[in-house]
Amino acid sequence: MLSKDQIQELEKQQYRMVGDHSSVKVCGWTKNMLRGQGSCYKFKFYGIRSHQCLQMTSSMHCANRCTFCWRGEKAPVQKEWKGKIDDVDFIIDNSEAAHEKLLLGFGGCEKTTKKIYDESKQVRHVALSLTGEPIAYPKINELLEEFHKRKISTFLVTNAQYPEQIEKIKNVTQFYISVDAPNKIKLKEIDQPLFTDFYERLLQSLDLMRNASYRTCIRLTLVKGQNDLDLEGYKQLIERGDPDFIEVKGYMHVGASRKFLERDNMPMHNEVDDFTKRLIDELEDYEIVSEHKASRVLCLMHKRMNGKQYIDFSKFFEIVNSGKVAEALDYSSEKIMPNL
Ligand code: SF4
Repeated sequence: MLSKDQIQELEKQQYRMVGDHSSVKVCGWTKNMLRGQGSCYKFKFYGIRSHQCLQMTSSMHCANRCTFCWRGEKAPVQKEWKGKIDDVDFIIDNSEAAHEKLLLGFGGCEKTTKKIYDESKQVRHVALSLTGEPIAYPKINELLEEFHKRKISTFLVTNAQYPEQIEKIKNVTQFYISVDAPNKIKLKEIDQPLFTDFYERLLQSLDLMRNASYRTCIRLTLVKGQNDLDLEGYKQLIERGDPDFIEVKGYMHVGASRKFLERDNMPMHNEVDDFTKRLIDELEDYEIVSEHKASRVLCLMHKRMNGKQYIDFSKFFEIVNSGKVAEALDYSSEKIMPNL
């Protein structure tokens, strides 16, 4: 349960609390898309439509205090779940309602077409990654299942501190692990974890990723001069997780991270590109398939995906809603697919 002060601070930053432990905030790319100013890199990489994306978390708490995080120092941290556990339907219904309310102003915006605005009321994707650790929510698998029943695709991002929660997941459209550093010493320095066995937790999470059947991705957030080193360390961690995709993204000098890091720690796109090319020299099973300069990010795909980088949404829902486990290649496509 958050304190009154913490809730006030979050509302000032345009978060909307949902129940006891979830929250919603409209992504900048959702706003851009509504203004006709382009979509996020996940459209270019995988076919996710930004104006139909709900950005939220099912747990405001996190077990790390990452130096590059935009959350304030007052952001809540804890290791174990405490307090109430809100119901899945309650979380989804109220998150969608809060999201729609936050978008109301776009109904009268000159730059927003009626078609795009009307479509934005139909959430078709959820990014469980806003802040905190969404995976810590005890009913995470039920939450994912309910989103899928509603034909909402799911991206879930974790900092790999809760492997026991990963084990609960039957299906997720795309599962992410943030690998914030190439080795144990650097990880402790950058993530400032609460768990003493933080590195073992990361390794265990990577082992679970390796055996998962759903689409998987490792995300590297490059902080210039801090974690853009030790390619051999990254290679070992990536090979351990064996993801279908790797996203290499530059750190953005925004929010509370400005207290810990300098503007110079933010790499330019060409520096992210250069690092990625050196990394790929170490990883023979991957190739660079796309980039998004505005977000300073490149996408690498495993050769076993056979060029199928996009998500086939209707296939995914057909498989998971019939009670089966979805295999990555069964719902992947060579071309951008609609999500109607
Ligand atoms: S997928 Fe991520 S970046 Fe794209 S609109 Fe949704 S929250 Fe924003």
